[in-house]
Amino acid sequence: METPISSLNKVGKASSAKLKRISISSVKDLLFHFPFRYEDYSKVLPIRDLREGESATIKAKVELIGNRRTRFRKSITEALLSDESGSLRAVWFNQPFLTKYLLAGKVFYFSGTVKGDMLGPQLINPAYESENKANINTGRLVPMYPLTQGLTQKQIRFLVQQVLPETDQMKDWVPKIILEENNLLQLSEALKGIHFPANQENLKKAEERLKFNELFLVQLQAELSRMEKQNATAPSLNFKEQEVKDFVAALPFSLTKSQKLSAWEIIKNIGESTPMNRLLSGDVGSGKTIVAALSLFNTVLNGFQAVLMAPTEILAAQHFSSVTALLPKRKIALFTRSQKIFFNSGNREEVGKTKLSKLILDGEAEIVIGTHALLGEGVNFSRLGLVIVDEQHRFGVVQRKVIKEKGEGVHFLSMTATPIPRSLALMLYGDLDISIINELPPGRKMIKTKLVEPNQRASAYAFIREQVKKGGQIFVVCPLIEENNLDNLEKKSVISEYNKLSEKIFPDLRISFLHGKMKPHEKEGVMDKFKNKEFDILVSTSVIEVGVDIPNATVMMVEGSDRFGLAQLHQFRGRVGRGDKQSYCLLFTDSINQRTLERLRYFESHNDGFKLAEKDLEIRGPGEVYGVAQSGMMQLRLAKLTDKEIIKKAREASKVCALRIKDFPELEGKLEEVKKTLHLE
Ligand code: ADP
Ligand code: MG
Repeated sequence: METPISSLNKVGKASSAKLKRISISSVKDLLFHFPFRYEDYSKVLPIRDLREGESATIKAKVELIGNRRTRFRKSITEALLSDESGSLRAVWFNQPFLTKYLLAGKVFYFSGTVKGDMLGPQLINPAYESENKANINTGRLVPMYPLTQGLTQKQIRFLVQQVLPETDQMKDWVPKIILEENNLLQLSEALKGIHFPANQENLKKAEERLKFNELFLVQLQAELSRMEKQNATAPSLNFKEQEVKDFVAALPFSLTKSQKLSAWEIIKNIGESTPMNRLLSGDVGSGKTIVAALSLFNTVLNGFQAVLMAPTEILAAQHFSSVTALLPKRKIALFTRSQKIFFNSGNREEVGKTKLSKLILDGEAEIVIGTHALLGEGVNFSRLGLVIVDEQHRFGVVQRKVIKEKGEGVHFLSMTATPIPRSLALMLYGDLDISIINELPPGRKMIKTKLVEPNQRASAYAFIREQVKKGGQIFVVCPLIEENNLDNLEKKSVISEYNKLSEKIFPDLRISFLHGKMKPHEKEGVMDKFKNKEFDILVSTSVIEVGVDIPNATVMMVEGSDRFGLAQLHQFRGRVGRGDKQSYCLLFTDSINQRTLERLRYFESHNDGFKLAEKDLEIRGPGEVYGVAQSGMMQLRLAKLTDKEIIKKAREASKVCALRIKDFPELEGKLEEVKKTLHLE
């Protein structure tokens, strides 16, 4: 399996390099380079029965064959083929050597799509194979592989065919009992079947087995990590019923049913002495922060410290101001790269890094709110009980890993507004419990979304001006520009949009801007002024994407909306409609691509984040939507979320095997191997 591809028959330096471009360097890589579709040449038909437009194979004798040159010095090979039922013409371009192989009088298989002209049916560039050889290019379901320039289907098929017999020596790491119970093919049979299926049924069985492999491994890893955590301990935090009830009663609103339910699930969970590992998923604006605050509160009431981490400084600062407002009697620290603040029962004080670290280490600071600066800078706690990570998918893989390590032996809650379909969540985070907030607080008006095509710009601008006159505020998000130096380009596009709006379109309105290159305190200054209604329009990059809460904003205008995914657009849209005013989302686009417009129209008519995430998954795949580096994601090549039956089988099998993993040394070996190649979480 580890044999380098270059030592195979007919693989020279040049081909090795090309194969490497599609990530094939060993025999194993080749075996796991699966076809993306199949050409059905399995029907061997008499020539008389060929129908135009159909794919088929014929078994025919070469009657005549010859080359000629066109005026443009191209070569054309023409042949007349016949069987008992009739004859037809075949044509190949630029393959003059064919006349040396396809000799007149000999019989071959020819496969291709039948075309017709005035002279009757013909085959153009058909694949061919001698009647005595094993068929890999004709007369069967023929695999079509992902290629790169300079490689042909025939070359790959030839190589795969060479190594397929080796699969008989492969150890099948899925335990026999599991294979039998689920009626699955042996690994070697499945590999043979996926490359050269005997028929559709065989292909289906092969796919099923290989999908099972992927799903089984992902879920087994999750199951094992869940079991490991069962042995870990965390402080059991009691439900401080009276205080928590008073806290809830003092809120200016009552909690929604699913906020209550989620809060209760968390409270119960942190009351146990095994660490909580829970995901709180809820659409934008569903009110996750209050649930987090309540959990932080219950933790400090138990005499333990609690951490709330956010992916950006703006968001951390915003959480700091909401949590200090909700819990004015507690001692709360803000720790980001540029800001170190200690809030002590109503007193807000800027302090140095050393001092704040000490306050945290000594347990003076009960709640610590911050960004990943908290992780890197040697901040330690005296008695940590709970870690909450907001918008966890925005953190990088390495950061998530550090968070997990820091959070060992404590309760852990991650929150996300990118709604994850339950099936995907189970697969990705099988070791996680999930709470879902599936409703918005009452009284929210549905945000009206409109796709603005180029000729409607003027009226859209007029609409925005009217909204400002009515006292509303406007977000303008600028498109991403995909280049290496993203930050500078973001800045450039923000400034040029700002100039355009303030000089030409809205010279009478108050406009400001925000981009990633600004200093954190500058950004926060801008956000504060916006919140205080000191200006009307904020031009920004996607920095405002997550979490920002400006209840008076009524319009979200997105320039170049075609460049964003649906889930991300939904995040933008979630920045408005947070108060009681009717709000709007205007999607500007210059695209004329039908599929792009369709995607945006879908967004126009759908407000449910879960539906949009599912659509996004369908269009762009989980890697794009949730980040390629998410654990597990990279292991899923064939399997899809819609493979419900196999997901279920794999889930049950993983439970069985996790309990007696020591009985399956081959499976353990496989897990080790996966760990090494992933070396992520
Ligand atoms: P997200 O889930 O997107 O983080 P937030 O926690 O920021 O949402 O809440 C959005 C807004 O809704 C905030 O202004 C918050 O105060 C408000 N809110 C939260 N829960 C409720 C509720 N039950 N009733 C009314 N308003 C609520
Ligand atoms: Mg939030």
